[in-house]
Amino acid sequence: MLSILPLGCYGSDLEEKKCISMRLSPATIIDAGAILSNMSSAELLKVKHILITHAHFDHIKDLPTLADFMLSYGMHTFTIHTTRTIADQIRQYVFNDLIWPDFTNLPKKGTPTVAFEYFEYGQPFVVDDMDILPIPVNHVVESVGFIIRQDGVSLGYSGDTGPCDRFVEAVNNEKNLQLLCWETSFPNRLEVIAKNSKHLTPRGLESELARVSPQVPVWVFHMKPSMIDEIEKELSEIKTKKPIRFMRQKRPIVVG
Ligand SMILES: [Zn+2]
Ligand SMILES: [Zn+2]
Repeated sequence: MLSILPLGCYGSDLEEKKCISMRLSPATIIDAGAILSNMSSAELLKVKHILITHAHFDHIKDLPTLADFMLSYGMHTFTIHTTRTIADQIRQYVFNDLIWPDFTNLPKKGTPTVAFEYFEYGQPFVVDDMDILPIPVNHVVESVGFIIRQDGVSLGYSGDTGPCDRFVEAVNNEKNLQLLCWETSFPNRLEVIAKNSKHLTPRGLESELARVSPQVPVWVFHMKPSMIDEIEKELSEIKTKKPIRFMRQKRPIVVG
């Protein structure tokens, strides 16, 4: 059964609100913004696959400490699934033997703690019985959205993005779409920041949803945690027939 458990669903850390990590199953998580802070050691040892949408800090924050945990706990391993470009960014700027050890060569060459697998846009791949279609979205760095399918149903996950024709087109083409997870980062008054950083405001989400045909619930995430009340108030006033829902940490969303 397809589901999402938000371990962290905000665009930064503040008090109990954490950066982005969405658990799809015990073994598979989208992004690494809040893995260690919200999972027990026993749960962490079940993690096998991390899908990385892009290399911004709020999405990769826990990769170094997860690698350290996996190695020190007894040589468990996990695989990062992303594009080759994003993988190169993570290798060059994180696992570079300067900021953090190169866990692709630890405990030794040939037996890595962290492995990379590359996906290609528009080409579905299978992880943990889920069929995953990566879509390039519109962010200041290379960034990925997903259509995730399992047991005949699917969901669309925007990742970090400004207005994005390709994501809208992908969800409009999806036959058994049940729900959407869509970012909205800033309130309307910060539209200039949203535009320059390629994120959405409630008004921006309203425009995107006007182009989306399936009348499915839209779960909003990636709000900046210091401005949640303001963003949610504005979201409650947007004109759309789709139910707007606010993602909350540790509250599972079941699809279908
Ligand atoms: Zn982000
Ligand atoms: Zn980002």
